[in-house]
Amino acid sequence: MAGSGTIDTSGHLWVEEGDQRLAMVAEVAPVLPIHQTYSYVIPDELAGQVAPGQRVMVPVGRAGRPVAGFVVGIDQRPWDSTLRPITELVEAESYLTPELIALGRQIAEHYVCPLGRTLKAITPNAVRQQRGLKTVRYASLIADVESLREAGARWSERRRKLIDALAASADPIRVDSLLKGTGASSAMLRTLAKEEIVEVTSRKEVQTTTGTGPELVEPDFELNDEQRAAVGEIDKAIDAAAFGVTLLFGVSGSGKTEVYIRAIRRVVAQGRQAILLVPEIVLTTQLVQRLSSRLPDLAISHSGLTEVQRSLLWRQTAEGVSKVVIGTRSAVFAPCPNLGLICIDEEQETSYKNLRAPRFHVRDVAIMRAQQLRIPVVLGSATPSVEMWYHSEHRSDYHRIHLRRRVKALPMPKVQAIDMREEQAGEKRTVVFSRLMEHLLEATLERGEQALILMNRRGFANRIYCPACGTRITCPNCQVGLVVHRATGRSACHHCHTYVATPEICPDVACGQRLVHLGSGTQRVEDVLAERFPKARISRVDSDTMRHRDHYEGIVRDFEAREIDVLVGTQMIAKGLDFPFVSFVGVVHADTDALLGGFRASERLFQLITQVAGRAGRFDAPGRVVVQTTAPDLPALQFALTHDYEAFVADELKMRQQAGLPPFRRLARIVVEHAREETAGQEADALAERLAELVEKTGEEGADLMGPNPCVLARLRGKYRFELLVRTLNATGLRRLMTAAQVEKVLATKGQTTIVDVDPVSLM
Ligand code: ADP
Ligand code: ZN
Repeated sequence: MAGSGTIDTSGHLWVEEGDQRLAMVAEVAPVLPIHQTYSYVIPDELAGQVAPGQRVMVPVGRAGRPVAGFVVGIDQRPWDSTLRPITELVEAESYLTPELIALGRQIAEHYVCPLGRTLKAITPNAVRQQRGLKTVRYASLIADVESLREAGARWSERRRKLIDALAASADPIRVDSLLKGTGASSAMLRTLAKEEIVEVTSRKEVQTTTGTGPELVEPDFELNDEQRAAVGEIDKAIDAAAFGVTLLFGVSGSGKTEVYIRAIRRVVAQGRQAILLVPEIVLTTQLVQRLSSRLPDLAISHSGLTEVQRSLLWRQTAEGVSKVVIGTRSAVFAPCPNLGLICIDEEQETSYKNLRAPRFHVRDVAIMRAQQLRIPVVLGSATPSVEMWYHSEHRSDYHRIHLRRRVKALPMPKVQAIDMREEQAGEKRTVVFSRLMEHLLEATLERGEQALILMNRRGFANRIYCPACGTRITCPNCQVGLVVHRATGRSACHHCHTYVATPEICPDVACGQRLVHLGSGTQRVEDVLAERFPKARISRVDSDTMRHRDHYEGIVRDFEAREIDVLVGTQMIAKGLDFPFVSFVGVVHADTDALLGGFRASERLFQLITQVAGRAGRFDAPGRVVVQTTAPDLPALQFALTHDYEAFVADELKMRQQAGLPPFRRLARIVVEHAREETAGQEADALAERLAELVEKTGEEGADLMGPNPCVLARLRGKYRFELLVRTLNATGLRRLMTAAQVEKVLATKGQTTIVDVDPVSLM
């Protein structure tokens, strides 16, 4: 992997060439908030060992503080005495190929993140050399066994078997399989070695976690016409060895995954590798079972892996042992030397956006990588992101293929919205379930079928408030409402993870009334369910239960096995899980997001409803879906009720065009945070002024600023937050402007944190 391009690094540091002394110089990107790279001399003792992609220690600043950095280039240059040497090679092995370094450069530039930090984010942490390598012992014969036999050596049955086995093999045999196959003991082998009949050698080998895996099975169905057309289009793209994006637009159950499988197998058959990205790894429990029986030499990268395991997985991938990499975010950086295809399932998922710098979007990184390598990308979605839909209409390198039908020709479920304001009228207690929802739940349970109950968002429900004065109890650090956890008697802020004893009396001394719990968190929904349907087996999945992955996987298994009747959960239960006996899905609150999520709120709402609807009635039971809301007139909701994505996206694009929002323009969001509200506000104002000057100075056409304004989450983790949106005509314009902002140091503030988020997804 440590291929170093064109320069021969095997020579010595000082090369005499005519009169001029030359030095090998490495360009290093330090892992610091610095947007520059620096040159260092490669010292004699590291000559020939340093290659692009490696992590090194270098002195930085006047004091020469040692800092980790990545070698991004090597050059032979005239000797320059001002250059300091690299002090240490951190790891001899690197998964940062020249291709990934180039990708890192592009990410660093696009997302305004220092190159060193970017490279650190895209490669696994340094792992001690040889970790994950297993010592494997091999045995072979060294004596002339035939002459021993002729000389009348008397061997026990086992000893003879062992010697025969070795004699029959041209190659050394792995000791473990030899002993197992012959029933001999390791003591016997040691004796044979002492007698110099057998030689045992050991080798360090990569432990294969992929192995041969389960036998590949062929499904007993043929692709339908639409799938065949899709596979044909993708095959053409693969054969053309050109960049292109294929948007597979099809409801869940329309056979998209089957199309990825065929395309991936074709690429693998050509001796190349493929990456399949999925939004949530917990899904892979179900997905993996299906995929591992269909795809050869699979490497599964998920967040549960340790650093060592990930490093090992990357090594297998880099060596070409793994042909297919499946994973969430980081899998897009798998060091495949021979990548031929990237597929992204549910491309619209917000979890593809990285929440830390570099704040890249995995889908967009995949597209960058595919562009560099000139390979195709396949994006799948039932509700494509507005951006990708727009591109598929307007760009020549994007195609769209519509899988119109569910494979098993099932009708879409009937989706109804219920106005909760009407349900609540005249009721003293908060109504959790509408009459229709309760009725359909009952009917579902009576038929022995299963139901999913979805809470839109855990953090926006189950608030404590005072019925007398209306005071809402919020986190002492944030202005976010506290969420009651009945089981512990405590309340939590799900933003800063503060826990307090649940207050019972209104904190307003003039009031002092008993507080009530308003709304319906997943736990309250579970309680009410248990009360109404005492015989039903109910389980709950949310980020609290999710902390233990095994626990979650256990619940999913039990639900699949029909040992659970009703599964209550947050959005994550709407994602990709495939439960054949679910015939009812209820959405308890379907508006909060729409009111808070910024310009993507409608898109989110539409996606959510469609996604849950896809969970109902996938196989033999026809589905029903009830969506409870206090805003039944939202256009996104109306379009979702009739499963009309195309009408939704047309309407949404019109709105975005009028408002000058993506995909018609590009945005960067800058958030300034400070513990003092005044400071945060002043810094945001000053930043806005500097940026306005910059826009004027650069003359960037069509660029403007929006804000500063307080963020939707105006206070978070004890800090006040202001946001500023930078808007340009296109991505190139945004890059130009943000690069200029960096060069002119416009973005530096006295804010305790300044976040730059290019192509933001969440505007909270
Ligand atoms: P999606 O990814 O769009 O949700 P899948 O590819 O998972 O759809 O297909 C849904 C189900 O239908 C899966 O169980 C799959 O094995 C099956 N399937 C896919 N294509 C066909 C086909 N052509 N004929 C019969 N069954 C199919
Ligand atoms: Zn808080």
